[in-house]
Amino acid sequence: MSENAPPHIVVLGGGSAGWITACLLHHRWGDRGGNVTVVESPEIGIIGVGEGSTPQLKAMFDHLGIAEAEWMAACDATYKLGIRFTGWSERPGFESYFHPFPGPVDLHTEPAFTHNCMLARRGFKVPAHPDDWFLATKLADAGLGAKAEANFPFAPSYGYHFDAFKLGAFLRDWAVARGVDHRSLKVEKVELSSETEVAALLCEGGERIEGDLFVDCSGFRAMIAGDALGGKFTSFGENLFNDRAVVVPTDKVNEFKPQTEAIAMKAGWRWHIPLTSRTGNGYVYSSKYISDEDAAAELLASVGLQDGDAEPRFLKMKVGRMAESWRGNCLAAGLAQGFVEPLEATALHIVIATALEFAEAFEAGGFTSKHRADFNSNIGKRYDGIRDYIVAHYRFNQRSDTQYWLDNAANQNLSGGLKAMTTAWFTHQDIAAANQQNYSIQAYSSASWHCLFAGYGTFPPEAKMQPLPEQINVADREEIAAMLSACAGNFLPVEI
Ligand SMILES: Cc1cc2nc3c(=O)[nH]c(=O)nc-3n(C[C@H](O)[C@H](O)[C@H](O)COP(=O)(O)OP(=O)(O)OC[C@H]3O[C@@H](n4cnc5c(N)ncnc54)[C@H](O)[C@@H]3O)c2cc1C
Repeated sequence: MSENAPPHIVVLGGGSAGWITACLLHHRWGDRGGNVTVVESPEIGIIGVGEGSTPQLKAMFDHLGIAEAEWMAACDATYKLGIRFTGWSERPGFESYFHPFPGPVDLHTEPAFTHNCMLARRGFKVPAHPDDWFLATKLADAGLGAKAEANFPFAPSYGYHFDAFKLGAFLRDWAVARGVDHRSLKVEKVELSSETEVAALLCEGGERIEGDLFVDCSGFRAMIAGDALGGKFTSFGENLFNDRAVVVPTDKVNEFKPQTEAIAMKAGWRWHIPLTSRTGNGYVYSSKYISDEDAAAELLASVGLQDGDAEPRFLKMKVGRMAESWRGNCLAAGLAQGFVEPLEATALHIVIATALEFAEAFEAGGFTSKHRADFNSNIGKRYDGIRDYIVAHYRFNQRSDTQYWLDNAANQNLSGGLKAMTTAWFTHQDIAAANQQNYSIQAYSSASWHCLFAGYGTFPPEAKMQPLPEQINVADREEIAAMLSACAGNFLPVEI
């Protein structure tokens, strides 16, 4: 960073977003005189959910030089190789599918999967269920870990499950030990020096905290970016119906699988997340289709609890994003910046991307507008790409048991990108090319799009499927299964 000296950064909020941002920006600029202060109110507290990650969290720990042995035990963490979707489709044979994090072995098997998908899309009866083609799927099903023995160099990429409170506390201690200033104070007012510039945070007791850059990690309230600066919020409410969640922990599971389960419910879905200390469960639902009481009862029954066995915790979700994550001298991160919904566990992924991409843009252009505009555009595209992929889970559901699922399947509020991906699938176009054409920032790979469509069995109706003519080649599922089983033999079960 030659021209732009590191700013003095004030982070409002000590949830996962606040501490991740503080760690990353301090790591980047701390030895060049950049200092970071985190202000949080223990009285307000943190949201305390968000227990699943993408591989981006591993990349972050690697970037910070924090070993798994150091943080995983402290946060009750387990490995995650992907997400198993259960009950999103009623089509026989497609009641469940796994969305894996891709790895190097899959480079060899994915073309076979997409080839068979293309045949099935054209109406030929061939094996095209996603569970047959990816190493992570085999490992998760067998309860095997993410780590291969040393002589097997093709590990899958993986994320984690963790306790959200403990993750925040771990990062706080790590950051404070390296010089980040931590203030337990409630901010009462944001003092502005212009329409887009923050001068200071005014705290209870009269303290005034000044800075060059203010990072708003105050949660859904968005106290700086929203309340004080009036940043425009774009709601995703028309695309995504879910606006509530109810959570309840249960005991630790005995039989561990390194996967999140996303199980369809009457008016939404529930997660099942295995930690070393307990199991995280939460039902994400639409308040238009089910009451809080009924959602809690459905959740409790589905995890084997009776009414009164546990105290469910209810959360409201504000689904959408800030039109601009960075305005003036304020960067919004975490829930203050936006939230899609937790189906693909992408929130911390975006926090990490936001901090790292912001640092790049700031180094290139300081507070000038050129790099800021590019940064905002890229972050916006990232959110919108994730939104589209998640909307597709609902739009292409194949359930008919409740009005919630029927209305989701009839939802016409699809972006241009998602409409184009849908047309591409049904008109037998190349999905990788369509993904490239429609998303300049590809939040999801072609493999992910194939897993979703094929996982629901989005093929012509069973009655119209034809036997494959002899002259057309089909990828050999048995051969690939044997190869993946041989690879899986290099991995050990994970004990938790
Ligand atoms: C139901 C649900 C499930 C989720 N699941 C996942 C998941 O699986 N994976 C994932 O990546 N993400 C998930 N998320 C998102 C994830 O929870 C958040 O992205 C993450 O916890 C970061 O939250 P945050 O730090 O932005 O906000 P919070 O945790 O709400 O923190 C806000 C902070 O601001 C402080 N604050 C607010 N106002 C003031 C004030 N006036 N003065 C001082 N301090 C103040 C608070 O004290 C707190 O420290 C989920 C979210 C929900 C709602």
